[in-house]
Amino acid sequence: MARYIGPVCRLCRREGMKLFLKGERCYTEKCGIEKRNFAPGQHGKTRKSKMAGYGVQLREKQKVKRMYGVLEDQFRRYFEQAERTRGITGETLLQLLERRLDSVTYRLGFATSRPQARQLVRHGHFTVNGRKVDIPSCSVKPGDVVAVRQSSRKNASILHALEEVKGRGVPEWLQFDVEAMSAKVGSIPTREQINLPVQEQLIVELYSK
Ligand code: SF4
Repeated sequence: MARYIGPVCRLCRREGMKLFLKGERCYTEKCGIEKRNFAPGQHGKTRKSKMAGYGVQLREKQKVKRMYGVLEDQFRRYFEQAERTRGITGETLLQLLERRLDSVTYRLGFATSRPQARQLVRHGHFTVNGRKVDIPSCSVKPGDVVAVRQSSRKNASILHALEEVKGRGVPEWLQFDVEAMSAKVGSIPTREQINLPVQEQLIVELYSK
């Protein structure tokens, strides 16, 4: 599966906000946004933002794609799926992204960032309903149980992440049992529980043109 492999802090600088793609570093003064809070490129420092309409909608879509580490084609498929689903399209789109296994393991604190969570999933450290799953885009549903595999319970990265992100909290839609290193998906996340500073309606407007 294709993924972005370029410099990630550049993505945050392009969007003008922290996308938290580098784990612990994002919370330190080494963060690219803390050091250079202007757009990347030769004219990044001097460029004045005159964005309106299409430009604003495009940036919002790019922001969400980059947060979840999803490329254009896959993101489009999520949007089409959201459109076919009953409910508010923008909200459903975020719910679909949030229910990805890599995002769920990140939310549970098994990784310090979504890119790290994606790598841990790929390396087969998690199970869904007792079966090993190594597909980051695997979508979980209410009733599913996501757990760290028995053989990975002493994995240094996972233990370190759990310690690092202790204060971050786990969203209510995931019933986390920290001792068992597993969580039951209690429900579909609500928009409030997703808690991201994005205006998903702009993405809907962009794709509806
Ligand atoms: Fe973004 Fe994290 Fe890099 Fe800061 S350190 S610019 S939040 S990826």
